[in-house]
Amino acid sequence: MSHTLIVGGGLAGACAALWLAEHGEAVTVLEAEYPATGASGAAAGLVNPFMGQRANPAWRFEEALAAIHETLALAKTPDLFRPTGILRPARDEAQARHFRERAEATPQHAAWRLTEALASMYPDLAAPHGALWIPDGGSVHLAAMVVALLHAAEARGATVRTGVRATEWGEDERCAFVTTNTSERIEADRIVLALGDGFQYFPDLDALPLHRIKGQTIRLARPDSLADLPALSGFGYVVPDGNTLVVGSSYEHDFEDVQPSQVQSEALRAKAAQMLPALADAEILDARAGVRVTVPRRHSPRRLPLLGPLRGHQRVWVFTGLGSKGLLTAPLLARHLPTYLEDPTRIPPDVQPPR
Ligand SMILES: Cc1cc2nc3c(=O)[nH]c(=O)nc-3n(C[C@H](O)[C@H](O)[C@H](O)COP(=O)(O)OP(=O)(O)OC[C@H]3O[C@@H](n4cnc5c(N)ncnc54)[C@H](O)[C@@H]3O)c2cc1C
Repeated sequence: MSHTLIVGGGLAGACAALWLAEHGEAVTVLEAEYPATGASGAAAGLVNPFMGQRANPAWRFEEALAAIHETLALAKTPDLFRPTGILRPARDEAQARHFRERAEATPQHAAWRLTEALASMYPDLAAPHGALWIPDGGSVHLAAMVVALLHAAEARGATVRTGVRATEWGEDERCAFVTTNTSERIEADRIVLALGDGFQYFPDLDALPLHRIKGQTIRLARPDSLADLPALSGFGYVVPDGNTLVVGSSYEHDFEDVQPSQVQSEALRAKAAQMLPALADAEILDARAGVRVTVPRRHSPRRLPLLGPLRGHQRVWVFTGLGSKGLLTAPLLARHLPTYLEDPTRIPPDVQPPR
């Protein structure tokens, strides 16, 4: 049995820990603060296989959806996925045309809904150009998922240590090692750096093609009139969560801190009110912000994450760059991680870090 040390207890680290532990590996997770402190704690958790202006299919989307369900099932928390479906109101006629083409091209996963039909199903929804219906979509409470996966990894023998920050790492011919903020040295056969935004503090990672984008979500009190609603994605997005709605999200490329702001909160609510006018005055209960770590398009045309050994290393791996759709990539890649660790040539070229 080999020993993998995972640094970072967000979505990437938690998915990796569970699948490796399930495969019989010895796993230790080090988390600097507590699970889902970073982007995973700010996300709305939308699972949308047809994102973007043209609703193009996400990378290996059928496998990606299956991997979310398999991962939650392993943790015995299948109910963390809310199977509401996703409705994407078209912003204008041009987008409506793209959406109709998407529905024609993938009828088993998407359908076109006319304005009149929508008006009778969802009288409070403004969708003058029609909408794309994505029945397999939904949402996940992402922070709860991270916690559940880590617990499930522990149940399979993994050790999860919170409040332990890695400050250095390295490898020799015998092992990989990490030094912590308490000067402890921990050795393993390999380490997987799943640091999210923590990458910026390590000059060794400067060469990776990673870009930081701040994002904010807000939680609104759910107006009574919006009791029956799927997840929406069009003017921002709206994710139903009990008697609240999570609304997202901002994309800020220049920022000085990672705190939520009142200005963004109001802008997000106003944007969502373009789809659901009843939200214009809804009470803002909470706001969260985090940093999406993304791989720029010039390095990855499909903006995929990075998974694999760091340049010049065999035992030090990265699992990062999950961007704005971590749910569609982290479970999928983590599911195959035991195979990739055994044979790195099997890592899909699209996600390999630059060599
Ligand atoms: C506002 C917002 C909305 C989003 N909405 C969605 C969405 O709807 N759907 C979707 O799929 N994705 C969404 N995302 C993206 C998603 O949140 C990310 O892709 C995913 O959560 C990233 O997970 P991660 O594990 O890579 O990073 P993180 O969640 O940031 O986790 C990294 C962890 O590493 C720890 N760490 C860092 N440095 C160290 C160190 N030196 N030692 C030990 N631990 C360390 C941190 O404390 C943190 O817990 C959203 C993101 C944001 C910001």
